[in-house]
Amino acid sequence: MTARILIVDDVAANRIVQQARLSAAFYEPLLANDGASCLAMLRDERPDLVLLDLGLPDRSGLEVLAELRRDPCSRDVPVIALTASGTTAERLAAFAAGADDVMDRPAAERVLLARLRNLLRTRAEVEYPTTGDPVLAGLAEVPIPYEPQGTVAVVAAADTAQAETLCGALSGLLRDRLIVVTRREALADIFPGQDRATVPEVFILQDDGRNPSGILRLLSELKSHQATRHAAVCVVGPAGAGDEAAMAFDLGADDAVGPGVTAEELAMRTRGLIRRKRQADRRRARMQDELRLAMLDPLTGLYNRRYAVPQLGLIADRARAERTQFAVMVMDLDRFKLVNDLYGHAAGDQVLVEVARRLTAHLRESDILARIGGEEFLAILPRSSLAVARRVAERLCQVMQDQPIRLHSGQELHVTVSIGVAVAGTSGEGSFAVDRLVEQADLALLESKGSGRNQVTYRLSAA
Ligand code: GH3
Ligand code: MG
Ligand code: MG
Repeated sequence: MTARILIVDDVAANRIVQQARLSAAFYEPLLANDGASCLAMLRDERPDLVLLDLGLPDRSGLEVLAELRRDPCSRDVPVIALTASGTTAERLAAFAAGADDVMDRPAAERVLLARLRNLLRTRAEVEYPTTGDPVLAGLAEVPIPYEPQGTVAVVAAADTAQAETLCGALSGLLRDRLIVVTRREALADIFPGQDRATVPEVFILQDDGRNPSGILRLLSELKSHQATRHAAVCVVGPAGAGDEAAMAFDLGADDAVGPGVTAEELAMRTRGLIRRKRQADRRRARMQDELRLAMLDPLTGLYNRRYAVPQLGLIADRARAERTQFAVMVMDLDRFKLVNDLYGHAAGDQVLVEVARRLTAHLRESDILARIGGEEFLAILPRSSLAVARRVAERLCQVMQDQPIRLHSGQELHVTVSIGVAVAGTSGEGSFAVDRLVEQADLALLESKGSGRNQVTYRLSAA
């Protein structure tokens, strides 16, 4: 889907030029000619990015910026502010009001487009549809998270004296820890005297003009390195101006500024980088949590059926390619209903948790164990012959029956399990139809139940 860019400018000619440029670059431009219509369009059209002229007729661009940052609908939308006067004070005020970047007009087309791509890409990496954001739903206040002190590393291009000077200039303006690192240290996984958790949040790459391509190479190395790829990188100096800046953005820089930047502006940009990086970290963590929860059973922490079934297909494919056998085991607790009836549902839950723990303890790391129903479990054992599966299944039966389960109440109860096992790949060739395999294991389980429970039944599946 193409990104939608809201162009806010009171001069019709400017709007038309921008509109043509963005359309040519395959974006979908939206137009607003004053602050009020900008805010209305942000709410109604939800653009992906805003190009905001700071000189608007009805209210100041800064007011519009501050207002859109207060609104949960638009607080995270990237905004590039464009100024005609370009005074330092105006630039600083725009950053303070929440601009992601401030550019003097006329902005060089190549740099502007590279900046757009960069901001949109960063946003796409962290944006994903969540299951109802309470803030967006208007149910919660915009949270103002506590912001701990961050670490900012200035990487010296050649000599560290220049980097020390920059650190000195920034130190009074930032409350974050500032360190000077060499290029080698920046690329090392472990920082001097630190562990991975304290990798700097921002790297400022200082280009002294002698080796801009070296700076751009370092940038792409940082962005591809495991330990540093989520850190924000800002290029400062000749490599952060003009065409070099466009290249820096395309290589993944989070910010790029020319050599004339003031310490105040660099400090502001750095704060913005830390804020956006933390926002991205939080979203990434939330996404990982949601992914994890989607495949786990909340009671036992085992995988759920939704995760296990596709895994079965993958393991079957691998077994076919490797010409190995694998086993499927369906396990069902015996007379579990009685546990609930006699001791209560909470006790039943405790039993399920303990059973899950024991099963996990007696299976290999490479086996997949899932809770696929109330008191029914599925284990998939890759690279397992009938002999291996037999040994494992019998051990599982044994560890249930040998040790009573102790409830929180102190009561102890004996629980047993019935198991059905199907082993695939005995013929070495042919289809490993997983549905049929589970069906075979289910039938074997039924047989175990029918023959008195607490036992294992086997099926060899040549199919
Ligand atoms: P069988 O030996 O034939 O398997 O008998 P059973 O009693 O184990 O089998 P049945 O299918 O009749 O009963 C299963 C019981 O498992 C019924 C249900 O209340 C209980 N159950 C299912 N899910 C949960 C759960 O999450 N927690 C608890 N405590 N009980 C559960
Ligand atoms: Mg049962
Ligand atoms: Mg059952």
